[in-house]
Amino acid sequence: MRRTHLNAHSLRKFVLLSGIAVLAFGSMAVSKEWVSGIIWPEPAVVVPGPVGGPPSDAIVLFDGKDLSQWNGADKWVVEDGAASPRGGEIRTKAAFGDCQFHIEWATPEQVSGSGQGRGNSGIFFGGQYEIQVLDSFENKTYFDGQAGALYKSKPPLVNASRKPGEWQTYDIVYNAPRFNEQGTIVKPGYVTVLHNGVLVQNHTEILGETAYESPPILKPHGPAPIRLQYHGNPVRFRNIWLREITEPSPVRPE
Ligand code: MG
Repeated sequence: MRRTHLNAHSLRKFVLLSGIAVLAFGSMAVSKEWVSGIIWPEPAVVVPGPVGGPPSDAIVLFDGKDLSQWNGADKWVVEDGAASPRGGEIRTKAAFGDCQFHIEWATPEQVSGSGQGRGNSGIFFGGQYEIQVLDSFENKTYFDGQAGALYKSKPPLVNASRKPGEWQTYDIVYNAPRFNEQGTIVKPGYVTVLHNGVLVQNHTEILGETAYESPPILKPHGPAPIRLQYHGNPVRFRNIWLREITEPSPVRPE
């Protein structure tokens, strides 16, 4: 009896496995690749730079030597590979729209002031949307004004600040808002920000100019210089570069 039982069990197992094999082979034999029919241009080859350094297609805005890519730098000093304000903001000579932007910054090691008065600067996209630079290491201020904030519009998701004097990084993706010919917005702008590699703005919608004394209001604009703020504090900057974002133009089927 036992022998008969074993045989029946083995037979069932054999039949089951055979069935799986036939199904698997069958599905392989009849599967056909799906293709969209869209003809995409081949993605360009970009050689990544050293960690934090500019990739091969980057526009280098400051490499530690001079501020020749900027206007208004007469009161800025360049020393030890870093640029630092002693008065006045600087603006890129070129205008930029959508871009991937990298910058490294350090607030003064010697702490003075508090709140917004401590290591304050900022990076403005579209000439008017500020990603706040501030010493936010154990330094409270209003949340939508601390480091990594889209100023007065959205606080950072977390506070990823390093200590005063330490180098910090921002990697920012800026998508400019789009306006039609009548000046009406047709596509919002967005910012995504990594602070020291930590996500602090996740595709955050730009609501308008980020002013201290007024609510954000959107006004039509095109590509604009990127600005670095002078707010009375000698914040240091280095290794500034960007990559302009160009979307591919595929050929779509009729
Ligand atoms: Mg600021």
